Amino acid sequence: MPCSTHKYEYISRDFAEDAMIDQHIYKGFLPHQGPQDVYECQICGHWHLTSKSTSRNERLQEMMDSGELKRKQEASKWEGRF
Ligand SMILES: [Zn+2]
Repeated sequence: MPCSTHKYEYISRDFAEDAMIDQHIYKGFLPHQGPQDVYECQICGHWHLTSKSTSRNERLQEMMDSGELKRKQEASKWEGRF
């Protein structure tokens, strides 16, 4: 049954976090842009992304702190260019 939030549903936290990180990489978001965290939905029981979180997802924060996210963003820019 589709969720009434109309958000994309992920079957687990891991899938949702992977998707969130992919969006940051391929869309080239600045740190405060795009989804910031994932949450388990009380309506459908699956996982959604949210941009309205007051805290940032740990995995996402780690990738920002280590510079890994920026490197992957740069890499995806170059891939798109050729
Ligand atoms: Zn839901």
